Amino acid sequence: MGQTARTVGFQTGERNVFFHILTACNLSCRHCYINPGQHGTGMVSREDMDAWMEIFADKEKKTNLIFLGGEPTLHPDLIHGILRAKALGFAVTVDSNGYLFHDFLERISPEQLDYLSFSLDGPDSAVNDPIRGDGVFEVCTRNLRKAVLRGFNVSVIYTVSSRNIDHLERMAPLLVEIGVKRFFIQVIGLRGKSAGPDAGGAGVAQGWQVSREQWLAVIPAVAGLAAESGIHVTYPKVFLDEGEPFECAGLAAENYFLFPNGRVYRCPLCEDHPIHSLRIAGGRLVANAGLTEDNFFKLTIPEGCVMNRLLQPDNISYDPAGRPLFRISCCLLKKEIRA
Ligand code: SF4
Ligand code: SF4
Repeated sequence: MGQTARTVGFQTGERNVFFHILTACNLSCRHCYINPGQHGTGMVSREDMDAWMEIFADKEKKTNLIFLGGEPTLHPDLIHGILRAKALGFAVTVDSNGYLFHDFLERISPEQLDYLSFSLDGPDSAVNDPIRGDGVFEVCTRNLRKAVLRGFNVSVIYTVSSRNIDHLERMAPLLVEIGVKRFFIQVIGLRGKSAGPDAGGAGVAQGWQVSREQWLAVIPAVAGLAAESGIHVTYPKVFLDEGEPFECAGLAAENYFLFPNGRVYRCPLCEDHPIHSLRIAGGRLVANAGLTEDNFFKLTIPEGCVMNRLLQPDNISYDPAGRPLFRISCCLLKKEIRA
């Protein structure tokens, strides 16, 4: 079967609103990116949910709105939010850990939701559960099967780290068996717990990040195999080739990461720090003054992504003269393979 592989950035005019409607979660994943110290423990009220979505609604531009948490299905007004978002013209995704609270699948139809994403970090419980918690694989895959049977447009997100990269190749057969058509491979970003002092866990020496060698040895080949099985696969380039252009998504794309305390970030790696460039105040989107993340987006450094260099530089390698061997692009350029 022939494959088409292409490198894609965010498309011109496309906007992505990542709406964290609460920070609470029933799980406590080892690499959880939520940082209650920065994002609070609150939940967006139904009124704010509506008002905040209206701020970002723009029928002239294709805008994806992704409901996230914590676990978004824990929010009692999620269904209301999805219907409101659709009415405002957003393409709507829900990113769930798979527990699907409040009878989620019974209360919404596949026609009312564009995508339902499940996070799974291993092809079996032996790999997934040490990262995401005991019993999580079983619950997540059970609900995944249910969602496929009911006709939802499901996808699976696999966050690649040193803990699970060697097991990625076993995902394709599982996804085919369940009937999942879209697979997103992500790279771990050191935020929240994975950036903390206990990130490695007792007796675990290597950090969460993977090296360029590990990434290149596994990801493109596995993505190709998954695509041969008929799955649409997307993964970040991360390690740019010689001469490949670097663009900071904070400048080149329209991404907004909203948190229940009203903070709005443009860069996902900045979320552990109070340097958000925007906030929602008085029902409006307001620019913050002072040293904010957007000051970093403009810096040009040989390592590519500035925040990667500052916050998680272990994935960069240098030659003896101190020049980086490659540049990092964590969040913009993606590789997409279709069967
Ligand atoms: S990573 Fe997601 S599912 Fe896991 S504990 Fe954090 S919010 Fe919950
Ligand atoms: S992660 Fe890097 S490339 Fe992406 S927005 Fe932040 S600074 Fe820019």
